Amino acid sequence: MESGGAYSARSRTAFVGALLVAGFAVVSCGGDGNAAASGKVTVVYEDSAIKPKDRHAVTVIRSSGVLEQVADWVNKSVALPHDMVVKVTDKVPPGVTDAVTQPDGRTIFVPPVFLTQIEGVLSDVVKTVKRPAVLPEAQFNADDLTALSTQFIFGHEMGHALQRQLLLANLGLEEVAADGFASFYTVNEVGPGPSLAAAILFDELAREEGKLTLEGFSSDHPVTQQRVFTFLCYLEGSDPKRYYGPLVGAGYLPKTRAPLCPQAWAMLDYGWWTQLQAHFTEAFKDQGDKTQANARDHLIAETKAFEKQIDDLRRGQ
Ligand SMILES: [Zn+2]
Repeated sequence: MESGGAYSARSRTAFVGALLVAGFAVVSCGGDGNAAASGKVTVVYEDSAIKPKDRHAVTVIRSSGVLEQVADWVNKSVALPHDMVVKVTDKVPPGVTDAVTQPDGRTIFVPPVFLTQIEGVLSDVVKTVKRPAVLPEAQFNADDLTALSTQFIFGHEMGHALQRQLLLANLGLEEVAADGFASFYTVNEVGPGPSLAAAILFDELAREEGKLTLEGFSSDHPVTQQRVFTFLCYLEGSDPKRYYGPLVGAGYLPKTRAPLCPQAWAMLDYGWWTQLQAHFTEAFKDQGDKTQANARDHLIAETKAFEKQIDDLRRGQ
């Protein structure tokens, strides 16, 4: 924080609070599975409804193409029952201050002021936090971190939208599944950048939240610092040879968590491919089916590998 003034502190607290309740909504999607599934995702920038103070952050996101990248992947891979519109606009429903998905999964709002707030937090981070070596120097600036973390956050909202439009069967909290989709999509399709940038952003937000409150503990989201470690765990587990040193060795992901991550990633990856399989587009079906089968084999292999370590891990506790 640059000034630490009362207004600044208050607005940050409100921002963190809003992020925590993001996506909280009663799910009412009826899931008409037999309807023609030809819905498409479109991203709309309502330029006339964007305040001058937010235009820089919006330009960063727009020129990076991160929202369109997610939308394109969904359009290529998933047959949606309904169109989905992603609106970058100040014209949002009452009380909306951060990215949200409507209960029917057909509209995602990305308020420009939310992007400016992310950019503000990350501008402070690059001045006060040492760059993790795993993140290239060229990406350790407020604009790139804003684009990358926004892609992860948008992945989270897309996770909500898919769950609601497709009426996916959840075995845990919807918010956890939404975070899971963000990891699943970005790790597979983009690379490590979004997970790392989101971990950096949420770590700073957790610091600003300070001591946990009753509301924090009782949120439908895991507590913020816990989400940081889960983002890192999935990334590490997706390729331990590549990420163990930079994430675990360097002390960002605790050694107590790391042994669980390869299997956790394999479960997530298999889980999402399997959830989406019934909804693959015709064009994606062959590739998607093969990928799902590979993810299944990978999960079986990781579970066997985990079994071999389990006695040593328990003994080490
Ligand atoms: Zn959410």
